[in-house]
Amino acid sequence: MKNVFLRIIDGELPCDKVFENERILAFKDIAPAAPVHILIIPKKSIPNIVSVGKEDAALLGEMILVANQLAHEFHIQDGFRLLTNNGKNAGQIIDHLHLHLIGGKQLGPIA
Ligand code: AMP
Repeated sequence: MKNVFLRIIDGELPCDKVFENERILAFKDIAPAAPVHILIIPKKSIPNIVSVGKEDAALLGEMILVANQLAHEFHIQDGFRLLTNNGKNAGQIIDHLHLHLIGGKQLGPIA
């Protein structure tokens, strides 16, 4: 069965989209942890960071550039967090690679 993010990519579920190109989709997190909380995902099916191969290096770089662009668009370029949860012990609940772009308030310590 397809996970939630693959269903969003395929247009089967709605999302609050903030960026899209042929390779990448970005949308607002449904349960935001901060005033700005955006998820940046590849359209390619990649479960998480440990599944990334050398062939994905350009795609990962582009995802970071998209995060940079969105940080400016949402006026959080002076203070944001860009993170990915890898595996259950890190709290990953959706097995499709995603970067969390979080900002718009004073953020606390990690973990
Ligand atoms: P993670 O714990 O790193 O796997 O993060 C998954 C994130 O996806 C959580 O922050 C959820 O709030 C978010 N999420 C789950 N379903 C949706 C959805 N349909 N649209 C937007 N965000 C979602």
